[in-house]
Amino acid sequence: MKLALVSAVALPALVSAHAPRDAHHARQQAAAAAASGSSSAAPASSAAGATTAPAATSLTSVSLTFTLASTNPSAVPLSQIVSGASSQPTVAATTTYATGASPSFIPNAPSLPNALALSPSNYPTLDKTPPTDSPEVQQWIKEVAASGVTIPNITATVAGGCPSNPAAVADTSRCWWTCGGCTDADDVVQCPDKMTWGLTYDDGPALYTGDLLQYLDTVDLKATFFVVGSRAISYPALLQQEYMAGHQIAVHTWSHPPMTTLTNEQIIAEFGWTKKIIKDVLGVTPTFWRPPYGDVDNRVRAIAKAMGLQTSIWTRISATATFDTGDFDIAGGLTTSTQVLNNWESIIGNATTIDHGFIVLEHDLFQQTVDMATGYILPDALAHNPPFKIEPIISCLNKPMRDAYIETNDNSSNPIGVSASASGNAAAATGSGSAAAGKNGAMSSVSVPSSLGAVAFAIISGAFALFL
Ligand SMILES: [Zn+2]
Repeated sequence: MKLALVSAVALPALVSAHAPRDAHHARQQAAAAAASGSSSAAPASSAAGATTAPAATSLTSVSLTFTLASTNPSAVPLSQIVSGASSQPTVAATTTYATGASPSFIPNAPSLPNALALSPSNYPTLDKTPPTDSPEVQQWIKEVAASGVTIPNITATVAGGCPSNPAAVADTSRCWWTCGGCTDADDVVQCPDKMTWGLTYDDGPALYTGDLLQYLDTVDLKATFFVVGSRAISYPALLQQEYMAGHQIAVHTWSHPPMTTLTNEQIIAEFGWTKKIIKDVLGVTPTFWRPPYGDVDNRVRAIAKAMGLQTSIWTRISATATFDTGDFDIAGGLTTSTQVLNNWESIIGNATTIDHGFIVLEHDLFQQTVDMATGYILPDALAHNPPFKIEPIISCLNKPMRDAYIETNDNSSNPIGVSASASGNAAAATGSGSAAAGKNGAMSSVSVPSSLGAVAFAIISGAFALFL
């Protein structure tokens, strides 16, 4: 039995953990650089001489405000899930799928390509927005123009987020999620059915994704993976394993930029190359995408729609209650494992009070994020009473897995861009008047990350960019 101690103490970090990255980037870069020293040389085992770093000194000791319903008996102790933690052994892709195999759970799915024959030289530089003058991007630009979707004439935002873009913030017609949480009726931001959790992991596949996949198999759960194109080409076998295991694969851009800062052509390049690498690895192209940092406005939404991608974010029930665990920030020393669990407790506290299901932001990029998911968050969720129904976003929307991919989706019955209509009052529920809004007392300072965010991310992922 959990303590009903959904605390105001836990909530400030809940709202601030993911979005306001500006102040975090310098530390993220430092952490990433440190991580590269211990993980790039020997990613499959503990690096010789690596030591467990102490928890970040600027973070005061945070204690749990509740009792977990269950934990994994083999969980890494919370005290060891810290920035600079020693590298643990990883679980590599367990199966190499033969070219020509196809998933049994998607009728008429295309055959699996020979992903191991992919050449990175045929793709753009990792972790950078691809150039727009390539034949591929020029072709995609033509396709967007011919799509019939009108792209609003909205200027790009500048780095620095809400404080640096007062005119964009004031312009409610652009419906910028980052600054105010505006959603379009087509956005997927929740699951329609109460107590249903659309399980998602972002930014992989990466070194510890295999560990997560193994755990998900053990407990018979499927998730949605929002895949970064630059990671897909680095870990094609893991991506195939995700797909063949029945998880939903979706787009999370090529280089993980704040998308509203890009030109239309750059946005097309980010989407196009990510769709292409996923199709080249899996034989199918996703119909869902998630904006990095949740940074989306009506211009980015329209381009996504023109390219067959359904915008999906995560649940935000008020300005101060966003369903972000904050797990991303452990590796950078910006939060603690205990704080993430307190955030998690706030999320499920809110989840049990709202009249619809929910989607939570978590990541499979770091050892720390996977340790939190497999050791604590998922075991706790699975032991929750009343039980949660935990499934991929496509399933929580009551759609078949075939609708998750362009090649197997029936566009006549499931046109991209209106998928969220199946989730009922998606837009209405993201307004500011939710009954649960009063639970959070903290003021949020939401901002779009600066370009430093992309740099930090590039350093992090560059350290992991091994072609396996
Ligand atoms: Zn991300």
